[in-house]
Amino acid sequence: MKILRVDMNKLEVHYENLPEEWKLVGGRGLIAKIMNKEVPPTADPLGPENKLIIAGGPLAGTLAPQLGRISVGGKSPLTLGIKEANAGGPAAQDLDRLGIRAIIVEGMPPKDKLFGLKISKDGVSFIPMDEYKGMKNYKLNQELRKKYGDKISTASIGVVGEKKYKSAAVSFSDMLGDPSRNAARGGLGAVMASKGLKAIIIDSSGASSVDISDKEKFRETVRSWIDTLNKDVTCWLFRQFGTPLAVSTNSYQGTMPWQNYTSGRPLGFQKVSGEAIKKLNLERGGKMHGCMPGCVIQCSILYHNADGTPLCSAQEYEAVGLLGTNLGITDPDAIGRLKYICDDLGIDLIEIGSALGVAADGGKMRMGDVEGAIGLLAEVEKGSEFGKVLGDGVVSTAKALRIGRIPAFKGQGIPAHDGRAAKGIGVTYATSPMGADHTAGLTYRMPLQKTGQAANSLRFQVAASTCDTFGYCLNAVPGGQASLYSFLADLLSARYGMNVTAEDVLKIAKETIKEERKFNEGAGFDKIWERYPSFYRTEPLPPMNSVFDVEDAEIESIWDKLDGFKEPKQIWEMRFDPMPPLLFGPGVIRQLGERAKQLKMKKALLIADPIMGKLGNTDEVRGILEKSSIASVVFSDVEPDPPVEEIEKIAKLYQDEHCDGLIAMGGGSSMDAGKAAAIKVSQSGPLAEYEAAMGGGGKIKAPLPPLICIPSTSGTGSEVNSYAVITDQERAKKLLIISKMIIPNLAVIDPNITRTMPKGLTAETGVDALAHCIEGYVSKNTPFHPYYSGLAVAGVKLIGNSLRKAYHNGDDLNARMDMCMAAIDGGIAFSKGLGLGHAIGHALGAQYHISHGKALAVSLLCFVRTNKEVCKNEFWDLALALDRSEDLESALMRLYQDLNLPTRLRDLGITEEGIKALAFEVGKDAANLAGNPAPLNDRRILEILKEFY
Ligand code: NDP
Ligand code: MN
Repeated sequence: MKILRVDMNKLEVHYENLPEEWKLVGGRGLIAKIMNKEVPPTADPLGPENKLIIAGGPLAGTLAPQLGRISVGGKSPLTLGIKEANAGGPAAQDLDRLGIRAIIVEGMPPKDKLFGLKISKDGVSFIPMDEYKGMKNYKLNQELRKKYGDKISTASIGVVGEKKYKSAAVSFSDMLGDPSRNAARGGLGAVMASKGLKAIIIDSSGASSVDISDKEKFRETVRSWIDTLNKDVTCWLFRQFGTPLAVSTNSYQGTMPWQNYTSGRPLGFQKVSGEAIKKLNLERGGKMHGCMPGCVIQCSILYHNADGTPLCSAQEYEAVGLLGTNLGITDPDAIGRLKYICDDLGIDLIEIGSALGVAADGGKMRMGDVEGAIGLLAEVEKGSEFGKVLGDGVVSTAKALRIGRIPAFKGQGIPAHDGRAAKGIGVTYATSPMGADHTAGLTYRMPLQKTGQAANSLRFQVAASTCDTFGYCLNAVPGGQASLYSFLADLLSARYGMNVTAEDVLKIAKETIKEERKFNEGAGFDKIWERYPSFYRTEPLPPMNSVFDVEDAEIESIWDKLDGFKEPKQIWEMRFDPMPPLLFGPGVIRQLGERAKQLKMKKALLIADPIMGKLGNTDEVRGILEKSSIASVVFSDVEPDPPVEEIEKIAKLYQDEHCDGLIAMGGGSSMDAGKAAAIKVSQSGPLAEYEAAMGGGGKIKAPLPPLICIPSTSGTGSEVNSYAVITDQERAKKLLIISKMIIPNLAVIDPNITRTMPKGLTAETGVDALAHCIEGYVSKNTPFHPYYSGLAVAGVKLIGNSLRKAYHNGDDLNARMDMCMAAIDGGIAFSKGLGLGHAIGHALGAQYHISHGKALAVSLLCFVRTNKEVCKNEFWDLALALDRSEDLESALMRLYQDLNLPTRLRDLGITEEGIKALAFEVGKDAANLAGNPAPLNDRRILEILKEFY
């Protein structure tokens, strides 16, 4: 393996052997080592002493996935410390195939001369590039491709680089040939310009594939890792929505910038959410793709104009955050235009987005004014007085405008993750040798906690250093059991015929940080810059209204723990949610009064289905309560799939009447209304704030009023679990809340109350319970949980024995008891996770207002068909439990026939044209789809819906 040294003084190149002790080191790690060896830390970043280093990882050219990130490094003109920025694209893979681990560019050519460097298997040559002076990236790329063919990959600078502005990026071509992958941060494009380099052209055609010492082991390691990535929930989400997936979650967390970092929840963020962008883009024929060959995530968005032509490559979260919401812009097309301009100019969109936000603060543009932003970017391109100020970044802009509130750490603009509402990230910005760089250690663990953040940040800084040093993609780090360190160790061992351990990998990653810190110490990095901007301490960030309050002593101590840091043990944590006490059996309702008294209820709000009133159940319950001297008020208008507004009404009644406890009697709708009302009367935020997908469960704080659930259907299992499903009419979707806090304090399960269910309702709710058991049994959200699995099989068995009986004779009390029990089993078993069935069921419910159970009948068939290969053995277990047969799908068909249930979507009144829209809605149910055993994509979802049309 070689290092290619490029001398821009003499216009000479030569190869050196990569030192043996650096054999396993690449990317950011190699940059740090070379910088310490060859560049004085006090060097002028744009002077002859500084070097531009481009390095791939030690596994780049192999066929292993996600390992082809390319790093660019040097001393940063922006932070005045060491800087590494990396990008996707095929460049690193090409270099590895050519036997090159790193390129070191040094010296300076005669003034104002521009050169290109062409690297191929036949040699390296300099190309005079004066003719390309002032050319922007897209045009340049076209020209170079015309001249050197489509097989090349390129690294280039645009006009911002040529002007040596401190926000200049080094732009790499992606797989489509667009110069959209930027090693953007820290102004390394200016360093490249200072070396007189306009472009590097890499042509690996004819190069042989890389040597792998133990091919068999290598292949096996890769195979199992791909399997891990395919099963990983986060990776799956990135594949579905790309990085804009984070728009909703971060807005709910309160960390996404709005109008110059004045709020963490942009107004109208829904318009630029991952879902919204995906929907638009699909309609226009845009697509998802990988940024480098072999990528199994494919999270990069090729975004299209309304007329179907490409607008920009790589519409990413940071673009949405900095070029969009931070400027008050919530139009995806406008953001796409700005992103294209930035790529074309070769400018770091985070730095310029941050600077534009400050410029707006200083009156140079209006917030939300797209044309204003475009105008200012044109100033940067022209190099006008203020254009230069902007091009030099956020600190320069703030100073020129005499603005004291500077959103930067270490001279660098803050990315779209506000460290005031995710304090571990704040610690990363304050301590990383990279400055305000979200890729240096992004953590959303315990976001608002004041202490423990140094350790939190450290863990993710080491992980980031590992990714960057080995060229691995940060968006492909799986959670759960999988260890990235072991994976890399196994691959390195297999490629180089060595015995590398996970500890070795960790050690190399730690060395990277140490080397960088050493360089920065010499550069006076910590002396030049404040630790953090002072407004981070003093200006609360809405809507969390938190400040960055991690103590200085804790921040300072972070590196003391680096040597001792070990990869956190990956233990499978098996959780058992608490169960409410269950009163179970005919007549138990009579004990309600005494038990409510034990829960200290004096005045209860009784929430019930209308039918409960008609049947006299409401009066009966009130009488029972009265005997125990408990007063009661009734709300008996619960509509199926209760909307948020109804919960608000219930909560108001509760407060107006000074109630002190909740009793919910009815189907899942009433019980969930009771749970949601318990939240509403005890917490301050809107219900949407507590949505599970947005990390809302953790925000629910004790005490909640006591809650008793009395199920009148046998389906949801809501009476025993921690879930509540509410309808958000505004968004036409179901809002799921999950929290231990809403597990009822008591479940009173009296099968007598379920006897009045008509046939249809009995069948539908029974199928809901069945779907909970079947989907829960195989869901991969929790691949292993013997307790939940056991309950799932037990539930299926009870349903097999008794659902037909309960259907045909509603007064069969034994059958009703079994079904009550099965609902409980299902209600707990689905804590293990669900799958495609409930994704379809919820989409049907929200879009077409079909009852949950009815919708699930067809949905469950879709689920079983989709997963029948992957879950062959498990479905065998379940078919046996259901009716002692072997094939689950046909067992279900028999059951449905007897229960007169629909088996096709058309039976539910869905039109054929409606299928596509339905498929899109299904595709948005990330949580349920992620648990589905067989891998899914949009095409497969559409296919299966068509099969069952
Ligand atoms: P609902 O609670 O929506 O009830 C449906 C209808 O059944 C009611 O409208 C009511 O009629 C009627 N009904 C209820 N009990 C009786 C009875 N004993 N005799 C006669 N009629 C009766 O149905 P589900 O129980 O299926 O609950 C579905 C809801 O629960 C959905 O919103 C779903 O999303 C949610 N859910 C919650 C889960 C959880 O774990 N929390 C799990 C799964 C689903 P009327 O209107 O005339 O009063
Ligand atoms: Mn359900």
